[in-house]
Amino acid sequence: MDKQRDFVLRTIEERGVKFVRLWFTDVVGTLKSVALAPAEVEGAFTEGLGFDGSAIEGLTRAYESDLLAHPDPTTFQILPWRGEIDPTARMFCDITTPDGEPAVADPRNVLKRTLEKAAEAGFTFYTHPEIEFYLLQSARFGDGGPEPVDSAGYFDNVPGGTAHDFRRRAVRMLEDLGISVEFSHHEAGPGQNEIDLRYADALTMADNIMTFRTVVKEVAIEQGVYATFMPKPLAGHPGSGMHTHMSLFEGDANAFYEAGAQYQLSKTARKFIAGLLRHAPEISAVTNQFVNSYKRLWSGDEAPSYVSWGHNNRSALVRVPLYKPNKGQSARIEYRAIDSAANPYLAYSLMLAAGLKGIQEDYELPPEATEDVWSLTDAERKALGYEALPSNLDEAIRLMESSELAAETLGEQVFENVLRNKRQEWVGYRAQVTPWELRSNLELL
Ligand code: GLU
Ligand code: MG
Ligand code: MG
Repeated sequence: MDKQRDFVLRTIEERGVKFVRLWFTDVVGTLKSVALAPAEVEGAFTEGLGFDGSAIEGLTRAYESDLLAHPDPTTFQILPWRGEIDPTARMFCDITTPDGEPAVADPRNVLKRTLEKAAEAGFTFYTHPEIEFYLLQSARFGDGGPEPVDSAGYFDNVPGGTAHDFRRRAVRMLEDLGISVEFSHHEAGPGQNEIDLRYADALTMADNIMTFRTVVKEVAIEQGVYATFMPKPLAGHPGSGMHTHMSLFEGDANAFYEAGAQYQLSKTARKFIAGLLRHAPEISAVTNQFVNSYKRLWSGDEAPSYVSWGHNNRSALVRVPLYKPNKGQSARIEYRAIDSAANPYLAYSLMLAAGLKGIQEDYELPPEATEDVWSLTDAERKALGYEALPSNLDEAIRLMESSELAAETLGEQVFENVLRNKRQEWVGYRAQVTPWELRSNLELL
C-alpha cells in the first residue's frame, strides 16, 4: 500500500500534475468529484478528505453527515482529455465515517462487502460489460425528440462519420487509462454505438464503467456532439443495454466450466443462473432503475422482457454464449436486463448476490428456452413458466420492497434510500400528462 502511495506522490511530481480529482459515486450512480491540490494528496492518503455526506444522494442521514474520502492509490490515472497543460489525475475513493468505519451507504463498499461474501465461498467474480449508448447532435431536442448523429445501423462502417472518429478517440483514451477494450461498433439504432470492455474483477470493472461514462461524455463534447446512456432515448429504436458477462473463478479455474457437460456449463454455473432467474424481478429497481428503463425492456428490440435462459437465444434474460471447448477459462453467462444507466456497484452486487444464493441454496435450473420468447402468447409463456420482468418502475419498486436479498445485500440504509428515491421518481412521472396522451385524446374526447 505504502509503495503504491509513494508511486502516486512521485508520479504527481514527475508529471507536474496540478489537480488530483477524488472520485466516488452516490446511490444513483452519479459520479462525484472533488479536486485536490497536489500538496494535499499525502494528507488525503493518511487521514482522508472530510466532506459533508448529507449533501450527496443517499450517502448519510443528516445527523451523521461528516464523512471522509480515502483515495485508493491503485486507481491513480492521469486523465487524458485534460491534455498536457496542467495535467489532472484521478483516484477512486472509499468512504468512511470519522472513526474509520466503512460508510455503509458507499456503493463501492456495498460491492466490496458482496465480493467478500463470494470470497468466503471461495469465488472471485469477473464481469465484462457491453456498453451501449447514443450519440446525439445535442442534449437539446424539439418535438421530434433527440436527433442522432447518423442513420447507420448494426456494424455499419460509416466512412468519415462522427461515430467512427468518436470510437477511435474514445477507445484510445480508455486504453490510456488502463481500461482494455475488446470490441467497438455501431449498434442497431441511429447514432447508437457499443463498446465492450475486456473482463476484469467486478470492483475494477465498476470503477471502469464510471470512468467509461466520463470518457464517452468528454469525447462527445470534444467532437461537438452529445452522448447519452439513457436506457431508451428514441421511441421506435432500440434502447441501450449494458449486457454483462459474468464468471466465477476458484483460484485459477473457471468455476462455470465443466468439460463434457451440456454447453460445458458446470453445476455451479447452472445454480448461479437459477439464482439470477429467480431474483431478477426483485432486483430490477436497481439494474433498471429509471422510469425510462422499462420503455427499453418492453419494446422488443432484443431487450429481455421475460425470465428465461437460453443458449445463444437473444430473447432470453440469461444467455449462455458459445465458447470453444478448448477455451474453458472463457466460460461465462450473459445477463441482458441491466441497462447502461445502472449504478454498476449496486447492480453488480445484486446480480452476484442472486447468483450466489442460487449456489448456496441449491436452486434448480428450469429448462432452457429454445424458442423466441417474445413471439409466444401469454398463455404459452405461462405454460412454459416464463415469468415477466416488472413492466414499469412502480412494479419494480413493489417487488424490491419485499426482497430479502436486496435488503440484505444493499444494507438497510441503501435499501431504504433506493426505494425512497425511486418512489419519488414514480410519483413525479405519474403526475405527467404526456404529449402522447394529448395527441391521442385531446381531439377525440
Ligand atoms: N440494444 C439491445 C438492448 O437493449 C441489445 C442489442 C444486442 O444484443 O447487442 O438490450
Ligand atoms: Mg449490443
Ligand atoms: Mg450481448
